[in-house]
Amino acid sequence: MKYLKNKINQWQEEGKEPTYEFLSIQDFIQELDYATHYLSRLLKTRPLIVYIMLFKKAYLEEGQRNITVKLSEIGKNLLSDQGTPMSHAPIKNGVNDLVKLNIIYKDPQLRPGQINRYEIRLPSEIPAVKEMINTDSNQIIEKVNLNLEDCYTDPLKRIEIFERDNKQCFYCLCELKNNTFYLDHIFPRSQGGENYKSNLITSCKTCNSKKSDKNAETFLLDNYRGGLITQEEFLNQKATLENLIETYENCKLSAG
Ligand SMILES: [Zn+2]
Repeated sequence: MKYLKNKINQWQEEGKEPTYEFLSIQDFIQELDYATHYLSRLLKTRPLIVYIMLFKKAYLEEGQRNITVKLSEIGKNLLSDQGTPMSHAPIKNGVNDLVKLNIIYKDPQLRPGQINRYEIRLPSEIPAVKEMINTDSNQIIEKVNLNLEDCYTDPLKRIEIFERDNKQCFYCLCELKNNTFYLDHIFPRSQGGENYKSNLITSCKTCNSKKSDKNAETFLLDNYRGGLITQEEFLNQKATLENLIETYENCKLSAG
Protein backbone atom coordinates (compact mmCIF):
# COMPACT_ATOMS: atom_id res chain seq x y z
CA MET A 1 0.00 0.00 0.00
CA LYS A 2 2.91 2.34 0.71
CA TYR A 3 4.19 1.72 -2.79
CA LEU A 4 0.77 2.59 -4.16
CA LYS A 5 0.48 5.78 -2.15
CA ASN A 6 3.89 6.97 -3.34
CA LYS A 7 2.97 6.13 -6.89
CA ILE A 8 -0.30 8.06 -6.68
CA ASN A 9 1.46 11.06 -5.09
CA GLN A 10 4.04 10.93 -7.86
CA TRP A 11 1.34 10.93 -10.54
CA GLN A 12 -0.45 13.85 -8.91
CA GLU A 13 2.80 15.84 -8.73
CA GLU A 14 3.32 15.17 -12.39
CA GLY A 15 -0.21 16.35 -13.07
CA LYS A 16 -1.40 12.91 -14.19
CA GLU A 17 -4.67 11.31 -13.21
CA PRO A 18 -4.08 8.35 -10.88
CA THR A 19 -5.23 5.40 -12.93
CA TYR A 20 -4.53 2.54 -10.56
CA GLU A 21 -7.09 -0.26 -10.72
CA PHE A 22 -7.72 -1.77 -7.32
CA LEU A 23 -8.61 -5.41 -7.80
CA SER A 24 -8.77 -7.65 -4.76
CA ILE A 25 -7.29 -11.14 -4.90
CA GLN A 26 -10.82 -12.60 -4.90
CA ASP A 27 -11.92 -10.27 -7.72
CA PHE A 28 -8.87 -11.13 -9.77
CA ILE A 29 -9.51 -14.87 -9.39
CA GLN A 30 -13.20 -14.34 -10.17
CA GLU A 31 -12.43 -12.35 -13.33
CA LEU A 32 -9.87 -14.92 -14.45
CA ASP A 33 -12.50 -17.60 -13.92
CA TYR A 34 -14.99 -15.59 -16.07
CA ALA A 35 -12.34 -15.32 -18.77
CA THR A 36 -11.66 -19.05 -18.90
CA HIS A 37 -15.32 -20.07 -18.50
CA TYR A 38 -17.23 -17.54 -20.54
CA LEU A 39 -14.83 -15.69 -22.82
CA SER A 40 -13.66 -19.08 -24.05
CA ARG A 41 -17.18 -19.60 -25.45
CA LEU A 42 -16.92 -16.36 -27.45
CA LEU A 43 -13.34 -16.47 -28.63
CA LYS A 44 -11.08 -18.80 -30.53
CA THR A 45 -7.92 -20.04 -28.82
CA ARG A 46 -5.51 -17.38 -30.09
CA PRO A 47 -7.55 -14.27 -29.23
CA LEU A 48 -8.40 -15.89 -25.89
CA ILE A 49 -4.72 -16.45 -25.08
CA VAL A 50 -3.92 -12.89 -26.16
CA TYR A 51 -6.73 -11.56 -23.96
CA ILE A 52 -5.56 -13.56 -20.92
CA MET A 53 -2.03 -12.25 -21.39
CA LEU A 54 -3.24 -8.64 -21.71
CA PHE A 55 -5.58 -9.09 -18.74
CA LYS A 56 -2.72 -10.44 -16.62
CA LYS A 57 -0.38 -7.64 -17.72
CA ALA A 58 -2.98 -4.98 -16.95
CA TYR A 59 -4.42 -6.20 -13.69
CA LEU A 60 -1.70 -8.36 -12.18
CA GLU A 61 1.52 -6.76 -13.31
CA GLU A 62 0.74 -3.09 -13.89
CA GLY A 63 -2.41 -2.48 -11.92
CA GLN A 64 -4.05 -0.31 -14.55
CA ARG A 65 -6.56 -0.87 -17.30
CA ASN A 66 -4.75 1.27 -19.85
CA ILE A 67 -1.52 -0.37 -20.84
CA THR A 68 1.17 0.08 -23.41
CA VAL A 69 1.76 -3.09 -25.34
CA LYS A 70 4.64 -4.16 -27.50
CA LEU A 71 3.07 -6.89 -29.60
CA SER A 72 6.39 -8.65 -30.13
CA GLU A 73 6.60 -9.25 -26.38
CA ILE A 74 3.25 -10.95 -26.11
CA GLY A 75 3.26 -14.71 -26.25
CA LYS A 76 6.95 -15.01 -26.90
CA ASN A 77 7.12 -17.85 -24.36
CA LEU A 78 4.22 -19.77 -25.85
CA LEU A 79 4.62 -22.45 -28.47
CA SER A 80 2.48 -22.70 -31.58
CA ASP A 81 0.84 -25.96 -32.68
CA GLN A 82 4.04 -26.73 -34.60
CA GLY A 83 6.12 -26.45 -31.43
CA THR A 84 7.82 -23.21 -32.48
CA PRO A 85 7.52 -19.89 -30.59
CA MET A 86 4.24 -18.12 -31.43
CA SER A 87 4.81 -15.83 -34.36
CA HIS A 88 3.83 -12.20 -34.52
CA ALA A 89 0.97 -12.61 -37.03
CA PRO A 90 -1.48 -14.66 -34.93
CA ILE A 91 -0.83 -12.39 -31.96
CA LYS A 92 -1.59 -9.34 -34.09
CA ASN A 93 -4.73 -11.00 -35.47
CA GLY A 94 -5.76 -11.93 -31.95
CA VAL A 95 -5.41 -8.32 -30.81
CA ASN A 96 -7.39 -7.11 -33.83
CA ASP A 97 -10.17 -9.62 -33.10
CA LEU A 98 -10.36 -8.36 -29.51
CA VAL A 99 -10.56 -4.75 -30.70
CA LYS A 100 -13.28 -5.61 -33.24
CA LEU A 101 -15.34 -7.33 -30.53
CA ASN A 102 -14.92 -4.35 -28.15
CA ILE A 103 -13.22 -6.58 -25.60
CA ILE A 104 -10.24 -4.24 -25.56
CA TYR A 105 -10.14 -0.64 -26.84
CA LYS A 106 -7.31 0.69 -28.91
CA ASP A 107 -6.24 4.25 -28.18
CA PRO A 108 -7.02 6.09 -31.46
CA GLN A 109 -4.65 8.92 -30.55
CA LEU A 110 -1.60 6.89 -31.35
CA ARG A 111 -0.20 6.30 -34.78
CA PRO A 112 0.00 2.64 -35.74
CA GLY A 113 3.44 1.41 -34.87
CA GLN A 114 5.24 -1.12 -32.77
CA ILE A 115 3.88 0.28 -29.53
CA ASN A 116 0.17 0.70 -28.93
CA ARG A 117 -1.97 1.64 -25.98
CA TYR A 118 -5.01 -0.42 -25.12
CA GLU A 119 -7.74 -0.28 -22.52
CA ILE A 120 -8.32 -3.79 -21.21
CA ARG A 121 -11.89 -4.39 -20.08
CA LEU A 122 -12.57 -6.82 -17.28
CA PRO A 123 -14.44 -9.97 -18.39
CA SER A 124 -17.40 -8.96 -16.18
CA GLU A 125 -17.63 -5.65 -18.09
CA ILE A 126 -18.17 -7.34 -21.44
CA PRO A 127 -21.94 -7.45 -22.19
CA ALA A 128 -21.94 -10.98 -23.68
CA VAL A 129 -20.06 -12.34 -20.65
CA LYS A 130 -22.40 -10.49 -18.27
CA GLU A 131 -25.35 -12.17 -19.97
CA MET A 132 -23.79 -15.63 -19.64
CA ILE A 133 -23.03 -15.06 -15.95
CA ASN A 134 -26.66 -14.05 -15.32
CA THR A 135 -28.10 -16.99 -17.28
CA ASP A 136 -25.87 -19.44 -15.43
CA SER A 137 -26.64 -18.08 -11.99
CA ASN A 138 -30.40 -18.06 -12.73
CA GLN A 139 -30.21 -21.68 -13.83
CA ILE A 140 -28.30 -22.63 -10.71
CA ILE A 141 -30.86 -20.88 -8.49
CA GLU A 142 -33.72 -22.65 -10.29
CA LYS A 143 -32.08 -26.04 -9.88
CA VAL A 144 -31.44 -25.48 -6.20
CA ASN A 145 -35.01 -24.29 -5.69
CA LEU A 146 -36.32 -27.55 -7.13
CA ASN A 147 -34.50 -29.39 -4.37
CA LEU A 148 -36.29 -27.62 -1.57
CA GLU A 149 -39.41 -29.79 -1.71
CA ASP A 150 -40.57 -32.01 1.10
CA CYS A 151 -39.44 -35.44 -0.07
CA TYR A 152 -40.09 -37.24 3.19
CA THR A 153 -43.89 -37.26 3.00
CA ASP A 154 -44.34 -37.53 -0.79
CA PRO A 155 -44.50 -41.25 -1.73
CA LEU A 156 -43.16 -40.65 -5.25
CA LYS A 157 -40.23 -38.61 -3.96
CA ARG A 158 -39.49 -41.34 -1.44
CA ILE A 159 -39.20 -43.85 -4.28
CA GLU A 160 -36.90 -41.45 -6.14
CA ILE A 161 -34.51 -41.43 -3.19
CA PHE A 162 -34.76 -45.21 -2.81
CA GLU A 163 -33.76 -45.56 -6.47
CA ARG A 164 -31.05 -42.93 -6.21
CA ASP A 165 -29.51 -45.05 -3.42
CA ASN A 166 -29.58 -48.22 -5.57
CA LYS A 167 -32.34 -49.81 -3.48
CA GLN A 168 -29.85 -50.50 -0.70
CA CYS A 169 -29.47 -49.38 2.88
CA PHE A 170 -27.01 -46.49 2.72
CA TYR A 171 -25.34 -47.56 5.98
CA CYS A 172 -24.98 -51.36 5.68
CA LEU A 173 -25.66 -51.83 1.93
CA CYS A 174 -28.24 -54.59 2.47
CA GLU A 175 -30.75 -55.00 -0.38
CA LEU A 176 -34.20 -53.53 0.26
CA LYS A 177 -37.64 -53.77 -1.31
CA ASN A 178 -40.09 -51.01 -2.23
CA ASN A 179 -42.13 -51.73 0.88
CA THR A 180 -39.29 -52.36 3.36
CA PHE A 181 -37.15 -49.25 3.17
CA TYR A 182 -36.95 -46.37 5.60
CA LEU A 183 -35.73 -42.85 4.95
CA ASP A 184 -33.17 -41.49 7.35
CA HIS A 185 -32.37 -37.79 7.90
CA ILE A 186 -28.63 -37.10 7.59
CA PHE A 187 -29.15 -34.08 9.82
CA PRO A 188 -31.84 -35.27 12.27
CA ARG A 189 -35.23 -33.56 12.43
CA SER A 190 -34.58 -32.95 16.13
CA GLN A 191 -31.61 -30.79 15.12
CA GLY A 192 -33.51 -28.80 12.52
CA GLY A 193 -32.78 -31.14 9.59
CA GLU A 194 -35.08 -30.52 6.60
CA ASN A 195 -37.03 -33.00 4.47
CA TYR A 196 -35.02 -32.08 1.36
CA LYS A 197 -33.89 -34.81 -0.97
CA SER A 198 -30.25 -34.06 -0.12
CA ASN A 199 -30.89 -34.64 3.59
CA LEU A 200 -32.57 -38.02 3.12
CA ILE A 201 -31.00 -41.41 2.59
CA THR A 202 -32.37 -44.92 2.27
CA SER A 203 -31.97 -47.07 5.33
CA CYS A 204 -32.96 -50.51 6.61
CA LYS A 205 -35.06 -50.81 9.76
CA THR A 206 -32.10 -51.87 11.91
CA CYS A 207 -29.77 -49.06 10.80
CA ASN A 208 -32.55 -46.51 11.02
CA SER A 209 -33.24 -47.26 14.68
CA LYS A 210 -29.56 -47.81 15.61
CA LYS A 211 -28.47 -44.55 13.98
CA SER A 212 -31.11 -42.44 15.70
CA ASP A 213 -29.66 -38.92 16.18
CA LYS A 214 -26.04 -40.01 15.68
CA ASN A 215 -23.81 -38.26 13.14
CA ALA A 216 -24.22 -40.07 9.79
CA GLU A 217 -20.51 -40.42 9.09
CA THR A 218 -19.82 -41.70 12.61
CA PHE A 219 -22.56 -44.28 12.19
CA LEU A 220 -21.14 -45.35 8.83
CA LEU A 221 -17.76 -45.75 10.53
CA ASP A 222 -19.41 -47.86 13.26
CA ASN A 223 -20.73 -50.22 10.56
CA TYR A 224 -17.28 -50.45 8.96
CA ARG A 225 -15.66 -51.20 12.34
CA GLY A 226 -18.41 -53.73 13.06
CA GLY A 227 -17.54 -55.53 9.80
CA LEU A 228 -20.87 -54.77 8.07
CA ILE A 229 -19.15 -52.94 5.19
CA THR A 230 -15.64 -53.11 3.74
CA GLN A 231 -13.15 -50.24 3.83
CA GLU A 232 -13.74 -49.54 0.13
CA GLU A 233 -17.51 -49.48 0.65
CA PHE A 234 -17.06 -47.17 3.64
CA LEU A 235 -14.95 -44.73 1.59
CA ASN A 236 -17.45 -44.78 -1.29
CA GLN A 237 -20.40 -44.14 0.99
CA LYS A 238 -18.48 -41.42 2.82
CA ALA A 239 -17.77 -39.61 -0.48
CA THR A 240 -21.44 -39.86 -1.49
CA LEU A 241 -22.44 -38.58 1.94
CA GLU A 242 -20.11 -35.59 1.63
CA ASN A 243 -21.64 -34.70 -1.76
CA LEU A 244 -25.14 -34.90 -0.33
CA ILE A 245 -24.16 -32.71 2.61
CA GLU A 246 -22.67 -30.13 0.27
CA THR A 247 -25.86 -30.08 -1.83
CA TYR A 248 -27.94 -29.86 1.34
CA GLU A 249 -25.95 -26.91 2.61
CA ASN A 250 -26.44 -25.09 -0.71
CA CYS A 251 -30.18 -25.79 -0.45
CA LYS A 252 -30.23 -24.36 3.05
CA LEU A 253 -28.39 -21.24 1.83
CA SER A 254 -30.79 -20.67 -1.06
CA ALA A 255 -33.77 -21.19 1.25
CA GLY A 256 -32.38 -18.36 3.40
ZN1 LIG B 1 -28.75 -51.01 7.14
